[in-house]
Amino acid sequence: MKDEQAVSEDAVVVPELEEEDRERIKEEVREAAAEAEEAAGSGKTCIVCGKEAAYCMRGLPNNTYCKQCAKEHFKFLNYLERL
Ligand SMILES: [Zn+2]
Repeated sequence: MKDEQAVSEDAVVVPELEEEDRERIKEEVREAAAEAEEAAGSGKTCIVCGKEAAYCMRGLPNNTYCKQCAKEHFKFLNYLERL
């Protein structure tokens, strides 16, 4: 029989963080990933004009928009997520 507990113990070495810190780190990671993808090109295109997409609708990753169309169709970019 294998001791599976040794594995789960390793997964809990990360010190507890304040909720605020966790959110900030998550945000930083997300931004870094978005920037990296932007640099490499997301490969997604705007569903309106076909240009390279920079945003997608929150919860609808297939509804992608370039910055210009996003601004025209959504007055508030809060409804969108950066790709
Ligand atoms: Zn567009």
